[in-house]
Parts: sequence; structure tokens; C-alpha cells
Amino acid sequence: MMTRVAVIGAGPAGLVSAREALRQGCDVTVFESGASVGGVWVHSAAVEDDPLGEASVQTVHSSLYDSLTTNIPRDLMAYSDFTFDSAGGGEDDWPRFPHHTCVRRYLDRFADRFDIRRHIHFNETVWRVAKQAASWQITTDHGVSEHDAVMVCNGHYAKPRVPVLPGIEQFDGQLIHSHNYRNPDSFAGKRVLIWGTSASGLDISAEVAEVADHVFWCGNAFDREASISPRRSGHPSPARVSSEGSVIAGGEPLDADVLIYCTGYHYTYPFLDDAVVSVDDNWVRGLHRDILPPRYSNLGFIGLPFLIIPFPIFEIQARWFVHHLTGKGTLPTVVAMTAADSARIAALQAKGTLQRHYHRLGDQQIAYYNELAAECGVDPMPDWFIKTWQAVGEARAALGDRYKFAAIPVLGPTHCC
Ligand code: FAD
Repeated sequence: MMTRVAVIGAGPAGLVSAREALRQGCDVTVFESGASVGGVWVHSAAVEDDPLGEASVQTVHSSLYDSLTTNIPRDLMAYSDFTFDSAGGGEDDWPRFPHHTCVRRYLDRFADRFDIRRHIHFNETVWRVAKQAASWQITTDHGVSEHDAVMVCNGHYAKPRVPVLPGIEQFDGQLIHSHNYRNPDSFAGKRVLIWGTSASGLDISAEVAEVADHVFWCGNAFDREASISPRRSGHPSPARVSSEGSVIAGGEPLDADVLIYCTGYHYTYPFLDDAVVSVDDNWVRGLHRDILPPRYSNLGFIGLPFLIIPFPIFEIQARWFVHHLTGKGTLPTVVAMTAADSARIAALQAKGTLQRHYHRLGDQQIAYYNELAAECGVDPMPDWFIKTWQAVGEARAALGDRYKFAAIPVLGPTHCC
């Protein structure tokens, strides 16, 4: 009998998981809350009723702002055998860092090319995934079904993380999380404090500075030189709000009308029991290879790591998971997997890594990719990919937030002009 695989979510991780499970001969059912494929890449003009996204009644999945262009060149974003040009799912004349609408079209074409859509149950949210003797029972809006394995691909950019800021009740301006930011129009002429220095903080602080009276860009990792301009100044992370309502950062009072939190997101799996997997400050505890709980080798989390080039990493994770699921590879014993994960966490702790960064791969992603590839007998990350990725890093270091204008060499199969 074919292995029955349920995939939760039809974003980039869910699509490639479904494709991989189909390719390896499984019977696949994808459950998707929304009406389209693409996940984050399905832009929503609508925002949530709570701008901080903490108590929203109407939730919105996508965090894309209107102007968003990718922060990774499209030749690196592509899945391994579906280039981001006219030979695959893109167009040759799209910019190297295309607008988000291009990524959605690429994903739509991927779903069509690999005939994934007919396996997707749209508008069907998974509410519960319960362990049975050797399978999983899934409860959705439309009923209950039984599956031999589950690939969890629900994403981790939809539930805003809003750090505690002592005295915030004294702030009488507007509070909003980047999840509910779409464009700078309503900030014209205002003094805006932007908290966060990763991708969203970088983009949003730059575009708000075009129209605002002033932007205070706060965070622990801002590039002071790149951040300073007449309308945008750099500061450490906020420490508190004074009794007068000023945000105190680096001992300095900053008087702002708006505070935009670009402070990231929570990982959540509301459909799984804590006994199966528990999340503690964005650390999904105890996973082997950041993919599966050692005791449940038929439950795979695809797409967990961050600071990665997502689509290729999702693809190799999915391939690795299904490879083992279908009996083509042998996993270490539960004891060995648990011990390896404990050793990895101990090494991160010894380095002083924040718990919420335990799934951050960054420079480790190539080694990670190659380990998974070796364990399922496929080629390691190609040389052109590594060289292009290094060139992007160099452009970022040299040009700060203007890196997308750098002449990065085209070394791989995707046609880019
Ligand atoms: P998602 O894309 O979030 O998809 C998850 C899907 O699961 C959604 O369709 C959702 O509706 C569905 N779902 C969730 N819960 C359930 C449930 N209970 N039942 C059924 N369905 C459910 N990546 C890049 O490669 N390049 C970039 O330039 C880039 N820029 C980004 C900019 C922003 C602002 C953000 C937020 C992310 C960016 N990313 C970028 C990362 C992006 O998240 C990934 O590219 C990718 O979308 C993650 O795919 P995913 O499938 O894991 O999750």
C-alpha cells in the first residue's frame, strides 16, 4: 500500500514537500487554510484588527509589504530543477531581486508543472494532529482522516513576536508590528521608531524615512554608517519607556509618534500536543536534524531553520524526510539522535547563542544541506550556488542596504539579465 502523507500548508515548504512525496511514490494530501498556493507570497492588502497581531480576531497569514522585493537573488531562490526564468517558473527579464508578485507566479507555476494542485484541499485548516498507534489522525474543518506520516509546513512568519518594553503603557503613540505594515503612506510627517535590524527593519526603516519627519532605527545589529542619513538615525534597542512617554534607547530619550516592531515571529504548532513537540521561546525542542522528533520518525517539520536560502533548504529537508520515511535510508537509534541533538544544543549554549536562535543556520546552511544530501544520496550544494551566495554576502558587506544594485555574477542555470 502507498504511504499516505499529509502535508500541512501549501507555501514553498508544503509545495516542495508534496512534490517530493509524490516523486517518491506516496499518496499525498495537502491541507491549506487559504484559497491559494504560495503561503507568505500571497500578499494581502488587508491587515489584522489588532495592529500588534497579539489579539487579532481576523488573522492574516502573509507579512508582505507592498514594495517588497526579494532579499535573495532569484537564481538562488529556485528549487533545484525548476529555474526562476522562462525555462522554469519565471521570466528572463525579471529583476535579479524580483518583486514579491514574481515569486508568487513562480510558485503557481511550480504547482502546475508538478501537478500538485489536485492534491490540495484549499480553505481547510488543520485543527488537530493526534498520534495513533502507527499513524496520525488529522482533524480539519471538514472532517477527520488518517495518514501514515505528516509533513508540517505551516510557516513561522505569521504570529508576531512583541518583546516586553517596560513602561510601554506610557507611550501614547501608535503601536504596530511589521506583520501589519503594508506601506509608509500613513507615516508621512511623523516621527517613527523602528525596532529591529533584520530584513524587515532594514526595508521598512528605509522606505518610511522617505516620507517621515524622522526615523529612529533601533536594534542591536544596525549598521551605524549605512543607517545614518538626515532622516534616519541609528540607536541601540529600546530599554524602556519613561513616565513622559519617551522611548529610552542607549540612555537617550526618543520622542516618537509611532513604534513599529520589526521584532520577528513566534513558531507555533497549535494543532500538536506538547507531548509530541514543545516550543520554548522559538526553540522547537529535541528535533533530529531540525526535522523530526526522534520518537516520531513519521512527523517531519519542513522549513524550521532561519537565516537560510529557504527554497533549496526546504527541498533537501523534504527529500531527506521522505527518503527515510519510505525505507530508503536508516535513521540512527532514538538514543543516538537524542544524544546528537543534546550535544548540538550544548555547543550552542557554550557559545552563548540565544535560545530563540537555535534554529538559525546562516553560514552553517551549506554544511547542513550537504549532510542531508549525503544521507539521501544526492549531490551536494553546487559550486556555482556557493560562489553566488558568497558574492551576495560580499555585496552586502560593501554596499549595506544598496546591495541589490551590485553586479553579482550569474553562475548558475537560471537566466538573469
Ligand atoms: P509559508 O510561506 O508561511 O506557508 C505556510 C502555509 O501554511 C500558508 O499557506 C498557510 O496558510 C498554511 N497554514 C498554516 N497553518 C495551517 C493550518 N493549521 N492548516 C492548514 N494550512 C495552514 N524567503 C526567500 O526565499 N526570499 C525572500 O526574499 C524572502 N523575503 C521574506 C520577506 C518577509 C517579509 C517574510 C515574512 C519572509 C520572507 N522570506 C523570504 C521567507 C519566506 O517565509 C519563505 O520564502 C517561505 O514563504 C516560507 O515557506 P513556508 O512554506 O515554510 O511557510
